Amino acid sequence: MDSDGTEGLAMLGVCRVQPVANPQSCILKNSPVVRFSIMASETQAKPEAARRRIPSVDELLSRPAIRALGASAGRDLVLEAVREGVQALRERLGRGEDSGFAPEVIEQDIGERVQAQLAPSLVPVINATGVVLHTNLGRAPLAREALERVAEVAGRYSNLEYDLAQGERGKRDDHTDRLLAKLVGAEAALVVNNNAAAVFLALNTLAEGGEVIVSRGELIEIGGSFRIPDICAKSGVVLREVGTTNRTRLADYAAAVNERTRLLLRVHPSNFRIVGFTERPALDEFVELGRRHNLPVMEDLGSGCLVDLEQQGLNDEPPAGRSLAAGVQVVTFSGDKLLGGPQAGIIAGARAPLERIRKNSLFRALRVDKMTIAALEATARLYRRGKLDSIPALAMIRASAESIAARAARLREQLRGLPGLTAALETGESVAGGGSTPGQSLPTTLLVLGHSGCSARDLADRLRHNRPAIIARVERDRVLLDLRTVLDGSEEDEIVRAFKRIVMS
Ligand SMILES: *Cc1c(COP(=O)(O)O)cnc(C)c1O
Repeated sequence: MDSDGTEGLAMLGVCRVQPVANPQSCILKNSPVVRFSIMASETQAKPEAARRRIPSVDELLSRPAIRALGASAGRDLVLEAVREGVQALRERLGRGEDSGFAPEVIEQDIGERVQAQLAPSLVPVINATGVVLHTNLGRAPLAREALERVAEVAGRYSNLEYDLAQGERGKRDDHTDRLLAKLVGAEAALVVNNNAAAVFLALNTLAEGGEVIVSRGELIEIGGSFRIPDICAKSGVVLREVGTTNRTRLADYAAAVNERTRLLLRVHPSNFRIVGFTERPALDEFVELGRRHNLPVMEDLGSGCLVDLEQQGLNDEPPAGRSLAAGVQVVTFSGDKLLGGPQAGIIAGARAPLERIRKNSLFRALRVDKMTIAALEATARLYRRGKLDSIPALAMIRASAESIAARAARLREQLRGLPGLTAALETGESVAGGGSTPGQSLPTTLLVLGHSGCSARDLADRLRHNRPAIIARVERDRVLLDLRTVLDGSEEDEIVRAFKRIVMS
């Protein structure tokens, strides 16, 4: 209890500091304190008397419970809370409010204020949406092996930029680059902060001051204001659009090549799909065009799929290795999408362009820190060992419809019989998400829940206010849970506990 300064809070009867997104929302449910009140007439008749009942900051600081709180939570934090508490009392008095002036109540309030400051803002949630790479929920959960490596390396010194064999300065890139290059079959690879940074750095290095040719059908926007035209402008290249939204032919690219052209760019239209009357040159033709004009070809792959997911019905995600094998000089992709690792952007390809990218002074501004390197290296090694199901995002995508159906049936059994709750099973669809595989889904079994005492919206709200928060889908006035994205075991137990609490309240 003392590591997070909560000892003093316990003395005040403030409930345990729970990780909550909005700390104010869960305070004091179990407060043992009976609220004292001064009669309204008393306050109105004798405002001075009431004001005198507000203890001074010094008086409060000398009370044993507040002193204990200061010792565990930190004196400055407690002083601040005391001042705020006293100020709030004065304001309430000014509004003619009449309760909450008893010392125990004031202490309780101070305890809550301290707790609100101590509770973390970034907390784990249970993702029951069935969207595996949910960007709002942190995309890929890390593999246990990756977490262990982060814990092992980050709290100590490491050879981050030190060559242990030679006893001299090394490069942080060395820990991941060869490994990643090997995984995708590239000559070289680099890691930066995210794929947006990777595209930016690569464009700036390979085409600054010149033109980049892109199909109009690939001028995409990814959530969070990543837009290809904007990133081109920021990286100092002139975007040369060719073709139309639905059809771009090789001849369109060829006609746009001129002496200012520096690069041919292809972008994976990650989060949407144009169907119907469409055309895009085959990759090898595109590469051949670049070769003919002595222009490098770059591909922003978006998701960074390292394995074939066609068996899972996801056939729109070209594995990075396939593009490189076709002769694309530089590919970029995310570390925390289908790769299933930490947030990172990976640039892989031929040695010459990669060396130029590495020498760009912007690389220093976009580089990753040791925790990312530790997690990415561990994740990459799981690929090398073929341990795909140790990578949570991949295991979720690869989970069979039958295994999810069995888990859903088991959970339904556990929820059955809770008063007012209805629980049924229904087939449905999960998605990979995170701007990948648009229009493609994975078969799943949904747990359809209802409660006689509240609407679906209310039930979903209550699940969201649970700690840990449970994020469900609401469709057609029904709450749906998709266990594909719920971690097997402990998170299912949390869900059962949450429903028990909800139906009892
Ligand atoms: C997701 C995506 C990006 C941005 O990647 P981040 O790692 O989120 O920065 C860029 N391009 C494409 C095609 C994407 O799908």
